[in-house]
Parts: sequence; structure tokens; C-alpha cells
Amino acid sequence: MAKPIPIDQEFVDQANEGPSPTKRFRFSSACVTGCGFWNGTGCNLAAKALQLAVDEDMTGPLPKCAIRKTCRWYSQEGGKVCHTCSHVVTDMS
Ligand code: SF4
Repeated sequence: MAKPIPIDQEFVDQANEGPSPTKRFRFSSACVTGCGFWNGTGCNLAAKALQLAVDEDMTGPLPKCAIRKTCRWYSQEGGKVCHTCSHVVTDMS
């Protein structure tokens, strides 16, 4: 299983030496259950990711993930949503 890597100042300093860290790493944080995607009981973005992944093969093994035990999307939608996760991009610059 992948192991989470806590972010500290040393990591930040090293990561800022190269191209944008958000283009080279995937970062996570706790679900705030209050953002625009929160519907009061779950995350609408996870459901939307599944709707958009109609052509995705969701039968293979799950990708390695360091946060699965605490992932909101996984607890809500199960392993099939993990097959959509790598398509989520937040840094479009
Ligand atoms: S959806 Fe799956 S792969 Fe993506 S962060 Fe959650 S547990 Fe990991």
C-alpha cells in the first residue's frame, strides 16, 4: 500500500525548486464537508466523476492510493470511483 507523505517545510522548499509542485504531485487534505460540492450528506463531485466516466473500465485492480482509508469519495462511492480519480486535475495552468 502507498504510504502518505506528510508535507513539511523541507518538502515545500525542495518542491519549489522545480516546476510547479501541483504539476508533479497530487496533494490531499481532509474533506471540509462545506464546500460547493457538499450536498449535506455527500460529495456531488464524486458522483459527477462517475457520471463522466461512462467509458472508463472499472473492473481492474484499484490504483495505489495512500489515503484510501480516509477518502471521502471511496467511502461514499466505493472502489469504482478510484478509476476516475487520476483524471481529476486542478492545476490547468
Ligand atoms: S478516490 Fe480512490 S484513488 Fe482517489 S483518493 Fe480516494 S481512495 Fe484514493
